[in-house]
Formats: sequence, structure tokens, C-alpha cells
Amino acid sequence: MPTKPFIRNSSLADIQSWLVENGFQKFRAQQIFEKIWKQGVQTFNQINNIPIALREALNVHFSIGAVQEKMRQVSTDGTIKVIFELHDGKIVEGVLIPAGTRMTACVSSQVGCSLDCKFCATGYLPRERNLESFEIFDQVKLIHQIALEKYDQKLSNIVYMGMGEPLLNYKNVVNSVKQLTDEHKWGLSPKRITLSTSGITKMIKKLADEDLNVNLALSLHAANDEKRSAIMPINDSNNLTDLSAAMQYWVGKTGIRPTLEYCVIADTNAEEEEAIELVKFAKQFPCKINLIEYNPISFADFDKANVEKIENFAAILQRHNLIVNVRRSRGKDIDAACGQLAGKQD
Ligand code: SAH
Ligand code: SF4
Repeated sequence: MPTKPFIRNSSLADIQSWLVENGFQKFRAQQIFEKIWKQGVQTFNQINNIPIALREALNVHFSIGAVQEKMRQVSTDGTIKVIFELHDGKIVEGVLIPAGTRMTACVSSQVGCSLDCKFCATGYLPRERNLESFEIFDQVKLIHQIALEKYDQKLSNIVYMGMGEPLLNYKNVVNSVKQLTDEHKWGLSPKRITLSTSGITKMIKKLADEDLNVNLALSLHAANDEKRSAIMPINDSNNLTDLSAAMQYWVGKTGIRPTLEYCVIADTNAEEEEAIELVKFAKQFPCKINLIEYNPISFADFDKANVEKIENFAAILQRHNLIVNVRRSRGKDIDAACGQLAGKQD
């Protein structure tokens, strides 16, 4: 860890005060701010419109903590996985998912994850640390540059579905959303941002109170406490009754219909009985359901349910008037699909 504070954890007013205290002109703060946020300089020396003495002083007092692209892999379906290196050498992954006019960036919020979901590769990595808000911001910026370079398109959507549990890095995740939606930093509409959570009930309620206007996805994967606890240990302390209450609170407070993510796994959660359990859960509040194709991982021997099972499952939900999308997996050949991110670099 550098002992110097990260400049992007300082507000414009903080930088102004620091400048004045250190004998520099206050208006320089705007120039510095523009360069570190909008232009994404990676060193203070790249701020070429301020005096050299100020660049040196910034160097002594602050660090930028810029995320670097370390490696890139392109899938046959156009999905691009990016391995990012953080200021302390730690690694996280992000993904660019092109789909017609949609360009989605999938970003990480923690190095590893402390929750041990049995079906997820990240769950088998220890949680090493939370990402700083600007480290999430940097992933978006770097993935955006790849979208422009490779597909000549801007990013249209951001999903917090990479490594880590966003709601267990609450403050930094919320700040990253504020940075991404701040027109002086990025300026994306919050409607284009989705936070995905394994279901930390207390934090779902807190997020509802923030008035951020982002979308929320709940990784459900089973609508029966015993079955959910077997694959998601977090369910022991955040069970379905509590989750339902939190989601009702979310809808009441934000008016935003959440998505339930359900990955259909053979011999685990793919039978008619389980579809009916999901109907019961989903009927408790307005929501839509994404049925996701399960991506096999090397750490566990779950299999994806076959196409007929998934279609039958979807049909049951539809018969009960639920909104259902069946999602094909993307970037499987390069381990970039949901749940496959495990910091593999070969
Ligand atoms: N920690 C958060 C966000 C990251 S995981 C969460 O759990 O929601 C992003 C999504 O990928 C979640 O919906 C997660 O349940 C899903 N996922 C994890 N492993 C998967 C796998 N092997 N196949 C398909 N989806 C998976
Ligand atoms: Fe963590 Fe989400 Fe993976 Fe569960 S599914 S281990 S919460 S990243």
C-alpha cells in the first residue's frame, strides 16, 4: 500500500484547500481534476498544463493509483476479457460484452470474494481486498476505450457482475456509481448501471435509501432455503424471507423493478418443483427473471441443465405471468462468462 493518499479520493474542494495550503493557485484544482478524471492521466507528469513545481508537489503528496490493462483475450463471439493490474500488483478481471447496439462493461468490485457460492469460480478465491471507487471507475474507462477501438461504439451499460460482492464493498461501490454518473467525471445515466448482489439484505435496504436510481439484480439461483443454503452459504444469514422483505422495500422505495438471476443447474435447481418455488418467491414483489445458462467451472462438478429443461422451466414461469428472459452465455471459450472469473492468465 502506498502511504500517500489517492488523489481521486479527494473532492475538488479538498484539492483547492490543499493547493492554497501549499502555496499554489486555487484555480489549478479544476485543471488537475479534469486531467485525473476526464482524461485519465496515469502520472502527475502527464498534467502538462500546470507548473512543473506543482506536478512535483502532487507527486510527493498523492498517488493516482491508476489501473493498468495487463492482458486481453478475445472470444470467438466478440466478448473481450481484460485482466487488470491494480496499484499493488493485485489482479481483477473485467469483460466487454458486445450485443448489437449494446456495449456492456462487466466490472469487478473486490479482489476475490468472501462468499463461497459453490458454483462460482471467484468464490474459490480468497477475498484479498475491496477495490477503491476509482479502481472500479478505471475498469469502466479502460473497457470503454476497448469498445471504441474494437467496435467503434461507446459503452452503453455497466454491470457490477465481475469478481466480488458489490454490497460488501458498499461505500466504494456507491461512490463509483456517483463518479460514473457525475457529468464532470463520466456522465452515464444510472438507468444504464446494474448492481448485482448475492443478497445482503441490510445493504439492499440501505441502497434503496440512497436514491441512486440504479438497477438491482439479485442472484437467487434457488427459491427454497435448504437448496439455496446448499449452494450459497450467505443464505444462512440472509434467508429468503428476509430477502423478500428487502426486495419489497427496494421496490417500494425506488419504484425500480429488480431482476432475479437464476442459473439453471442440472440436478440442483432445474426441476418443475423448483420452478414453482421460484414462482412463489417472485410473486411477492414486481420483478423480472433472467434464466442464465450455467457455465461449468473447474472447481466444482455442476452441469448446466439441457435446453429442454431450461425451456420447460421458462414456460412454467411464463404460465404464471412472470417476465422471463433466457440468457445465453457469452465468452465461455476464454473463461469470461458469469462465474468463470478466477484470475487465470493463460
Ligand atoms: N457477487 C455478485 C456479483 C458477481 S457474480 C453476485 O453474486 O451477484 C455475477 C453473476 O454471475 C451472479 O448472478 C452469479 O450468481 C453468477 N454466476 C456465478 N457463477 C456462475 C456460473 N458458473 N455460471 C453462471 N452464472 C454464474
Ligand atoms: Fe461472490 Fe457473487 Fe461469486 Fe457468490 S456468485 S462467490 S457472491 S462473486
